[in-house]
Amino acid sequence: MKPNKLVIKVGTSTLTAGTQRLNRRRMLSIAQQIVEAREKGVSVILVTSGAIAAGRELMEHAGNAPINGARSLPVKQMLAAVGQAHLMLAWGQVFGMFDVQVGQVLLTRADLSDRRRYLNARDTLNAMLTYDVVPIINENDAVATEEIRVGDNDNLSALVANVVNADLLLILSDIAGLYTADPHQDPSATLVREVTHIDEAVWAMAGASRSGLGVGGMATKLRAAELATHSGTAMMIVDGARPNVILDAIEGKPVGTRFAATSTKIESRKRWILSERAVGSVIVDDGAAGAVRNGRSLLPVGVREVQGDFDRGEAVLVKDLRGRTIAHGIARYSAAEASLLIGKQSWEIEGILGYESAPMLIHADDMVVLAMGNQSDH
Ligand code: GLU
Repeated sequence: MKPNKLVIKVGTSTLTAGTQRLNRRRMLSIAQQIVEAREKGVSVILVTSGAIAAGRELMEHAGNAPINGARSLPVKQMLAAVGQAHLMLAWGQVFGMFDVQVGQVLLTRADLSDRRRYLNARDTLNAMLTYDVVPIINENDAVATEEIRVGDNDNLSALVANVVNADLLLILSDIAGLYTADPHQDPSATLVREVTHIDEAVWAMAGASRSGLGVGGMATKLRAAELATHSGTAMMIVDGARPNVILDAIEGKPVGTRFAATSTKIESRKRWILSERAVGSVIVDDGAAGAVRNGRSLLPVGVREVQGDFDRGEAVLVKDLRGRTIAHGIARYSAAEASLLIGKQSWEIEGILGYESAPMLIHADDMVVLAMGNQSDH
């Protein structure tokens, strides 16, 4: 089945074709396939590595001495700072040949674990997709120190897949997929086509694998696969050098290794929403209660009262006029803002708050409707 939303992660060794420099021909082929995928109705988000490699290329080209100490984090961060703009320029050029606009989004783990920033990132990425812009994501290496960095783009791409609710995460690698043993060492190793469950046997296969220039490796890819499949996104590892590999993967042709999703996206979203402790409540009128029970968004017009002190992105309970909890959801506005919006029409939001981030107080996608309602005040 063709995916609706696809996240593609391109590793450094794929971008450089195994050399020390960005390979424009490789980038052009990836861009061309992404443009074709979009023409087939697939939304695509690209997660790109290669900033550090591009930085090294530029520094050495400018006649600087070879970069020593390239293993230290600040030196890598410097190289990423030098290379990121260059990397984006190269992507902009290859997509520009197809008149496709790109936009840069740099993220850290902290951006995705903070609820408000998570929502901001999600809204921005969705706006880009709505306007047919290809989001090009990398880790914000310059500011990503130990505590807040994801550290590798395999995991970053799995987090991004979760943010945008992707159906498929495609990892373009310098290896054709997961092998039963390290193919560099064991000539009898065979490619595993499908993994339905990442168990010890699968980890054992990855144990001996290795990958070239990038910071990844098969173990990192398996961690990303666990993250992605658990949140309802299938993942594939494919050989980024294989002609047409992106198009073949979305057509379901047998390329690389496919990790099946172990949960549905809806289940995983519900789990996530319910795992957020509710820190406030909104009391809604009967009309809004009916709409929410029918799976629609909660608009400010139906709100009667706001209780507790919550921030944008925090979880709240939706209660009817009799105090019964009918839903658990993520608020798009803070308690202070929501109080100002009580009974107001959505078009009035901007005039009242000075900005509008959404026409609803809780989006239907961010809400779990609880069975007919209960009395508990959890
Ligand atoms: N963010 C790094 C870069 O652009 C790459 C990290 C990775 O490849 O996993 O160079």
